[in-house]
Amino acid sequence: MQASAPAVVLKEGRERSVLQGHPWVFSGAIDRVLGEPAPGTTISVADAGGGWLAHAAWSPVSQIRARIWSRDPTLRIDAAFFRGRIQHAAGLRAPLFDDAHTGARLVHGEADGLPGIIVDRYGSVAVVQLLSAGADHWRTAIVDAIATLPGIECVYERSDADVRALEGLPERVGVVAGSMPSDVSLREDGLDYRVDPVGGQKTGFYLDQRDNRRQVRAIAGGRRVLNAFCYSGGFTLAALAGGATHVVSIDSSGEALAMGAQNLARNPALPVAANKWIEADVFAHLRQLRNEAASFDLIVLDPPKFAPTAAHAEGAARAYKDINLLALKLLVPGGLLATFSCSGGVNAELFQKIVAGAAVDAGTGAQIVRRLGPSPDHPVALNFPEGDYLKGMLLRKN
Ligand code: SAH
Repeated sequence: MQASAPAVVLKEGRERSVLQGHPWVFSGAIDRVLGEPAPGTTISVADAGGGWLAHAAWSPVSQIRARIWSRDPTLRIDAAFFRGRIQHAAGLRAPLFDDAHTGARLVHGEADGLPGIIVDRYGSVAVVQLLSAGADHWRTAIVDAIATLPGIECVYERSDADVRALEGLPERVGVVAGSMPSDVSLREDGLDYRVDPVGGQKTGFYLDQRDNRRQVRAIAGGRRVLNAFCYSGGFTLAALAGGATHVVSIDSSGEALAMGAQNLARNPALPVAANKWIEADVFAHLRQLRNEAASFDLIVLDPPKFAPTAAHAEGAARAYKDINLLALKLLVPGGLLATFSCSGGVNAELFQKIVAGAAVDAGTGAQIVRRLGPSPDHPVALNFPEGDYLKGMLLRKN
């Protein structure tokens, strides 16, 4: 390590997580900072004895003070580094694309060795989110690398997630390479969805639920389905394609439901009349359905993130319990519940406990038929459990 290079020196013993491959260095692990690194620039991480550990990006505002780019001392963190990692990550997703599948997440942050960087592909459009000071610092190199990936004609930046504020970064959205086609769309398992990277949620679509939509499609045949928190109708179209007799799709966002209706119309083979869109608060509407003694054979519960961090876990637990309890009451005996949590602050074990409590209060039991997780374009790094945000269970009510 050059004495003059900007560096953070860790406290005694705090090198362990770095050596185990964890990509984050928290403020509490840092003993001192050498030099005056600018936000997002590359620093060296050193152990208490001054031994070099890693190249990292400096995030002076965030509690996650440094995010590790590499533990290879011979590597330079430069535009070629980003081009290499992005091309590698995109290459890993190549098998997910064919005539019936035109979208996938190309870069999934820490899991792809690119902390703070998300890239979702919808046809020829790539939507990028830069969520950390380091990612923001290398913006030009990252955008250039994405723009030169095969098949990409437009790069749109959607750096408006709340976590940017924790990094002291302003929102930034807009086309950054090429020009946006008038119709951005995605084929998934042969179904055609419109995607709105500008006004839609996240980057426009919940690609992480691809395998679970396929799962729902496989079991929907002949069933009356309730799709709660339906957004633009991902699970709705999947259920109809799988032969559901009837679907009720609920979301509180009128814009999401309008997109859902458009999506249904784009797929003329699906029975439009078999679905009912309902603009409502799911908590209130499930109660109303229960009071009306409605019943369903298959329910999908895919709520938004109730607990971004563990600090919100208690309130989130109440919310998860409430909707799962109501859903279990609305299911016929033997009915299926696909229930999800995308809260980083609620792990799989806690989620199972919450749903088990809901079943007890609903006066029923249930079996876990299958555990559900994100599709393989959203991998989790083995040594980064924080990345394991989406968990779900397919339950059969007793
Ligand atoms: N299942 C969807 C993604 C769901 S995202 C898919 O596969 O595409 C969560 C959705 O919940 C968002 O569309 C949001 O508008 C909606 N939402 C958030 N709070 C809600 C509430 N209290 N009642 C109804 N919908 C809500």
